[in-house]
Amino acid sequence: MKLYVSADMEGVAGVTAWQQVDARTPHAEYATYRRYYTQEVRAAIDGARDATPCEVLVNDSHGPMHNLLFDELPDDVRVIFGNRKPLSMVQNAEAGYDGAFFIGYHGAVGDRDAVLCHTYTPSVVYDVSVNGIACSEATINAGLLGFYGVPLLLVTGDRTTVEAVQAQMPWVRGVIVKESIGAFAANSLSPQAAQRLIRAAAHDAVAATGAKPYVFSPPLVLELTLVTAAQADLVATIPGFDRTGGRSVRFQHDAFPVLFRAFVAAWRMGALAN
Ligand SMILES: [Zn+2]
Repeated sequence: MKLYVSADMEGVAGVTAWQQVDARTPHAEYATYRRYYTQEVRAAIDGARDATPCEVLVNDSHGPMHNLLFDELPDDVRVIFGNRKPLSMVQNAEAGYDGAFFIGYHGAVGDRDAVLCHTYTPSVVYDVSVNGIACSEATINAGLLGFYGVPLLLVTGDRTTVEAVQAQMPWVRGVIVKESIGAFAANSLSPQAAQRLIRAAAHDAVAATGAKPYVFSPPLVLELTLVTAAQADLVATIPGFDRTGGRSVRFQHDAFPVLFRAFVAAWRMGALAN
């Protein structure tokens, strides 16, 4: 099968602080946690391959998006590294995958008991929904994959993240690697225990039937609330966005990839107001 892996870092076992996942101004702990991150991705790939031969693409989807230790992954795996990808955390979603894994994912902005929760850019995105459905990164990313017919099979992260995904996509297998206690603390499995569970769940996720693409039905409406009115001023200049309030904008389109790109453009543009 062709497997797509979107990997984030806040939902990796043990992670509870921004310094642990900050590649730009690396703290000593970053070196440790990027290794755990890589090992969780590796566990997911190994588990999928326990079930069936897999051609694998991994999209490094955290921060500046160059965190994975390439030589600790199987040597036939391809990895997308780097930032400013048009489709960001789901770049290449359109390339004919049979299923997807979200590894190390985290809660949406505003979630309770969700370590390091945010949605794309914490300083810009206050709230986002599509057709009235509240969106985490997992939700909107699964929506783009779903548009291309790719079902989400597995999500790993804290309990809040996994349960939120399963509430929207009941067919998705989940591995809860930690129980968040607020935004900056968690009761976590050890890295090794988390990786064992991820490997087993990845096997089961690939072997199972019944997963389906997560599809938003047109007409599509993106409702976005920014953190500041200054950000909304800038985002509202993007053609297609309507200003709906001091800090809020709306974008309507029938094609999900257009809506997704509009969302990416909005949080990138909004960051320029900071
Ligand atoms: Zn991240």
